[in-house]
Amino acid sequence: MTTIAFIGLGNMGNPMAANLVKAGHSVHGFDLLPENLAKARDNGVTVMADAAAAVQDAEVVITMLPAGKHVISVYEDIAPKVAPGALMIDSSTVDIESARRAHAVASQHGLPSIDAPVSGGTAGAAAGTLTFMAGGTKEAFDRAEPILQPMAGRIVHCGDAGAGQAAKICNNMILGISMIGVAEAFVLAEKIGLSHQALFDVASTSSGQCWSLTSYCPVPGPVTASPANRNYSPGFAAALMLKDLKLAQEAAQGSGASTPMGAQAAQLYSLFAGLGHAGDDFSAIIRMLRGDVG
Ligand code: NAD
Repeated sequence: MTTIAFIGLGNMGNPMAANLVKAGHSVHGFDLLPENLAKARDNGVTVMADAAAAVQDAEVVITMLPAGKHVISVYEDIAPKVAPGALMIDSSTVDIESARRAHAVASQHGLPSIDAPVSGGTAGAAAGTLTFMAGGTKEAFDRAEPILQPMAGRIVHCGDAGAGQAAKICNNMILGISMIGVAEAFVLAEKIGLSHQALFDVASTSSGQCWSLTSYCPVPGPVTASPANRNYSPGFAAALMLKDLKLAQEAAQGSGASTPMGAQAAQLYSLFAGLGHAGDDFSAIIRMLRGDVG
């Protein structure tokens, strides 16, 4: 059993912390929102008064926060208070620069660290089947792996500090672009008299096959579990897709990579969110492409 501090008990953090409790760890949790603390308590997490109290006896500290600024602020607050040698794991999705800064803050205090963002959404967090993409030294990764296991379907060591975040934004750029591609194909099919099911039956076993089609189909019917069957309630909100596409564009601009489709996807999701649909599942972009939302 390991004593684990878990900071950030939101939609993702709460079910992740619950799986650590189920695996027999002692989890000391903190969040700014009382309702999230109450849920965590129901899941067997020992709720603490603040982040400093949560990390006091921790051998491992996991953060699951909204964005880079939150991670840096929490790291600067807690790093001086964490027990020497404790392992720092940040699973939030943040920009690569913030990820590297968080590693630097940890290192200044002698704390090994990895960035370990996740893919799989709230369903994967609840089921303990998230994909973790980790960046950091081999030693830190080897220590983190058994801790991440109860929350994970797959754990990949992607490289040095920041490599986990790099993998996350590249993956989600593929996802944003492919969802728009699949949605456009369904809109075209509707206009030219091809049924949703016929397009799905062909493309899902042909060269158009991809996750956005076969696991997350943006029209109701072919894939029972996809958010299209529940009026596009998320799932993975358009606001989060926009966040990740913006992170990819920042990285592209900073590195000189040419990503015209990624840029277009970011613009379309920005437009969709601006029309009041930030809280809809990201597959609902099909409604904007179809002209159903204004
Ligand atoms: P969320 O907003 O539900 O949870 C974030 C939590 O952090 C909130 O409960 C908030 O109160 C807490 N918080 C903020 N500042 C804090 C502080 N200083 N101290 C303690 N708690 C603080 O967000 P989420 O959906 O759980 O996402 C968390 C991270 O995971 C984000 O970086 C997101 O991009 C990423 N992510 C989310 C999903 C998803 O499907 N929701 C999927 C993959 C990755």
